[in-house]
Amino acid sequence: MKQALSRLSSRMATMFSMVFKVAERQADHKKLTHHIVELNKKQSSIEIINEVALCLKDILNYRLFAFVVKKENGVDIWLDPRMYKKSLEDIILKDFCIENRESLNYLNHTFHPDEQEEKFNLSDLIFYELKEENCYSRIYMLPQEQMYSYHDEVVTLILQGCSSALSRQAKIENLKSAAVIDPLTGCYNRREFENQLKRNIAGASRHKNDLSVFMFDLDHFKTINDTYGHLAGDKVLQEVVLLVQKNMRTGDILARYGGEEFIAILPATNKAKAMELADRLRIKISNKQVVHNDDTIKVTASFGVSELDRCADMTKIIQDADTMLYRAKLNGRNTVMPGVIKIVSNKESERRKKHSI
Ligand code: GH3
Ligand code: MG
Ligand code: MG
Repeated sequence: MKQALSRLSSRMATMFSMVFKVAERQADHKKLTHHIVELNKKQSSIEIINEVALCLKDILNYRLFAFVVKKENGVDIWLDPRMYKKSLEDIILKDFCIENRESLNYLNHTFHPDEQEEKFNLSDLIFYELKEENCYSRIYMLPQEQMYSYHDEVVTLILQGCSSALSRQAKIENLKSAAVIDPLTGCYNRREFENQLKRNIAGASRHKNDLSVFMFDLDHFKTINDTYGHLAGDKVLQEVVLLVQKNMRTGDILARYGGEEFIAILPATNKAKAMELADRLRIKISNKQVVHNDDTIKVTASFGVSELDRCADMTKIIQDADTMLYRAKLNGRNTVMPGVIKIVSNKESERRKKHSI
């Protein structure tokens, strides 16, 4: 009788555990479906990774989760919690063959130097790889409890959803940037310049702010192509753009207007300041040496500057800059038009008058 009872209770326990496991799995599948549906609504990589973390926390209640995406110069890392940062960083550096910690870009946390660090047992760490045509990433995880094959299925499913969501997002971002960026120089294209100018003019008129535009064209560029070849010409264009971008403020906008002609929007800048900047850039370009194969190439540029008037007319500000650029060409090139205004002190002005400078 005692034996029979013990057999019965053991069978009941197995049955309960099976029923419970089935119920648990069903609940987990429900959660998984919900998170996969949510994944497809996400608009950015960060939101996608956040959703994956939520799903895995929900179902597996991990101790550590890290999502590492390979980028051109390093990796992006999403990490939870951060107390394992140091130990995990060493693994990531090794796995992704990265030498410099500066190439690790954290997406979800800022770390404080006095934060507690904790080590974990390396043998407990599991990882999964995600490979899509335009995206490679790894997920590292410390599970709270033992992982069964059923858990592996859950992780695989959510990662497949994540992988296709990330790949779709990367394609959207590429398309977006292809629509606004000039592929040779990496600055904005003409269409995007016009969008940005409209927006900036509206803002400047509303807040009664200054706004200037300068246009520049490389001098005798055809001769550079004819002498050194088209590829050398391309390199000159790229290096001039880099030089100009490096010397402009963050809010300034540079675009390629045509072949070797560029245009810039300078928000909150009056014409005198814009001309000073254009002249500084003109000098920098004329001092630049572009090395291509065995050749050292020098180039100059002519600038036309204009300023937003009361009419706040987009066509007019471009036309004015264009007219000034044309005059700069007539005026012998390698110059800024209208000429640079130097603001001098009263004393200096008196001295100049006296010596008729
Ligand atoms: P100017 O001083 O009057 O501006 O003379 P220019 O020779 O610069 O002007 P022109 O309009 O006669 O020639 C412009 C040249 O720019 C011709 C064209 O082949 C070249 N060009 C336009 N786009 C590109 C490009 O993307 N790459 C290269 N390498 N050359 C380009
Ligand atoms: Mg030219
Ligand atoms: Mg031109």
